[in-house]
Amino acid sequence: MNTFDIANEANTIHARTIADRRDIHRHPEIAFQEHRTAGIVADRLRELGIETRTGIGQTGVVGILHGSRAGRTVLLRADMDALPLMEAETEITEGFRSEVPGQMHACGHDAHTAILMSSAELLASHRTDFAGTVIFMFQPAEEIVAGAPQMIADGLLDDYRPDGAYALHIAHDLATGHLYSAPGPTAAASDRFTVTLHGKGIHAAWPHLGIDPVVAGAHLVTALQTLVSREVAPGDPAVITVGRLEAGQVANIIPETATLYATVRTFRPSTRDHLERRVPEIAHGIASAFRCTATVDYERGTPPVVNDADAVELVREAVSSVLGEDAWAPPVSDGPTMGAEDWAWILERVPGCMFVLGVRDPSWETARPIHSPRFALDERALPYGVAAMTAVALRFLNQAPEA
Ligand SMILES: [Zn+2]
Ligand SMILES: [Zn+2]
Repeated sequence: MNTFDIANEANTIHARTIADRRDIHRHPEIAFQEHRTAGIVADRLRELGIETRTGIGQTGVVGILHGSRAGRTVLLRADMDALPLMEAETEITEGFRSEVPGQMHACGHDAHTAILMSSAELLASHRTDFAGTVIFMFQPAEEIVAGAPQMIADGLLDDYRPDGAYALHIAHDLATGHLYSAPGPTAAASDRFTVTLHGKGIHAAWPHLGIDPVVAGAHLVTALQTLVSREVAPGDPAVITVGRLEAGQVANIIPETATLYATVRTFRPSTRDHLERRVPEIAHGIASAFRCTATVDYERGTPPVVNDADAVELVREAVSSVLGEDAWAPPVSDGPTMGAEDWAWILERVPGCMFVLGVRDPSWETARPIHSPRFALDERALPYGVAAMTAVALRFLNQAPEA
């Protein structure tokens, strides 16, 4: 199947990949503001002779690359958005730190974008070596899990009907030179709810003449925690966090209402359904126990990211073939995360997976985790990502479709 030395070619364009990544790192753009980044991507794809569409999902960019003959279609994704975070001064990023105060590429999306542009370059120069079509999805607004659904709403999947979909994310706790993925759930479903408890406001010194929603709210926060500890199997990860609790203005007035804002993370559909049913039951039950009434607003968000087993196996084979079998190794925090990823919306419709690329320089003594102002990545990892993405696409497209 193989046609050219992918790892070697990825190394040949390493300087360009780094330059792209640093340029994007210096000019971070948060969700749905990725105008400059999208412009760089679109210009590059056009230069490479790749059919390019912009404005898909607001600032998203799509590239369409046809091989030499008809075949299957594979979608490769990079996300482009930065975080609203002030970058700390570390030696590693000396010379290309964020030039936008309060915005930073602290999740590696600058690297994802640079890697996918370089993979596009390799695939474009070898378009006679594969059958079918590669769809390059450069999505906005991953950090607010809104970019992928908007690109889908703008026809991304209906227009190109990919047969497989692959995304790469950097891993800060995996050493440079390694990649990994595992079948099954890797990121959680993320839902949210708001409960408003209605009581009766009164002077704080006469509680018996009013109805106190603050006390009811305190009980509700505690009662909600029993859903996970008493109603979800211990081996089935789930989280309910009340991240915001709002009531009253001053110490000497019992307010009319108390409002709780919470997030719910789950993997299993049955657990997701159970909590969606039980949260309002508990809220109404606690409210009535304390003479309040409750209004509950429960909203489903991102589904879980579920990696397809065959897709993971394909990535493992592709990585092993171009980078050697030792390159396949799990990160320290192996196992699913309760974080959400909007790649889930693609995997809900297309079989595929997300795989991780190690970016931790083994000589670093301190951790440089994503979403922290001291996040940093080892740029020597970039060609591994380019080689892996390219190899995954070629292996997918050149594999004989099942009869
Ligand atoms: Zn992130
Ligand atoms: Zn990310």
